[in-house]
Amino acid sequence: MTAMMLLAAIAGPLWAAEAIAVHLTDNAVVPLIIKGPAKAQASRMFAKLGIGLVWSNARPSETGTHRPILIELAANTPARLLPNALATTSLKDDRIVVFYDRIAAGSGRAAPGNGEVLAHVLVHEIAHVLQGVARHSDEGIMKAQWSLADYRQMHFQPLAFTPLDVELIQKGAAARMQPARESGNLLLLRSGFRLHFAP
Ligand SMILES: [Zn+2]
Repeated sequence: MTAMMLLAAIAGPLWAAEAIAVHLTDNAVVPLIIKGPAKAQASRMFAKLGIGLVWSNARPSETGTHRPILIELAANTPARLLPNALATTSLKDDRIVVFYDRIAAGSGRAAPGNGEVLAHVLVHEIAHVLQGVARHSDEGIMKAQWSLADYRQMHFQPLAFTPLDVELIQKGAAARMQPARESGNLLLLRSGFRLHFAP
């Protein structure tokens, strides 16, 4: 009995510390046949890095052990708003806006497929939040702009992270997932990746 209680005591905080909470608001009414596979693929791509995502449609909890990443799937994006962008991320408040209407319209050669493009956009922007710095890579999913070849590939096999992408994502995720009681360490670790985005 003691062992079981100990296990339960350990399992609670560990679970809370192992997953990144992602709150998704779908203002674009994305078809479930696209949104479901896209979320599942995004989860698989982060799972390969040892990072769990917990998706939620409800309002984020104010009492969670770490603040959630907030994602809005938006429609009716004004043409003048960040032309050629499929999404934007604010590192100040971990807020992502995906211009889903542009994905659906095939902007930037982004044929929506079965959710692969939305998955890649979600993963790219969540990776920005976890890395905590404004940077892109020369190749792979963290490129500033995907080529036609990239779009073709993502329909068959996910675009890859570079080794530096993986390192920064894992460090950022580890810092974010520190239990609340270690918030002092959390701030210390996060500040190292947020030199220009301190709250
Ligand atoms: Zn980017």
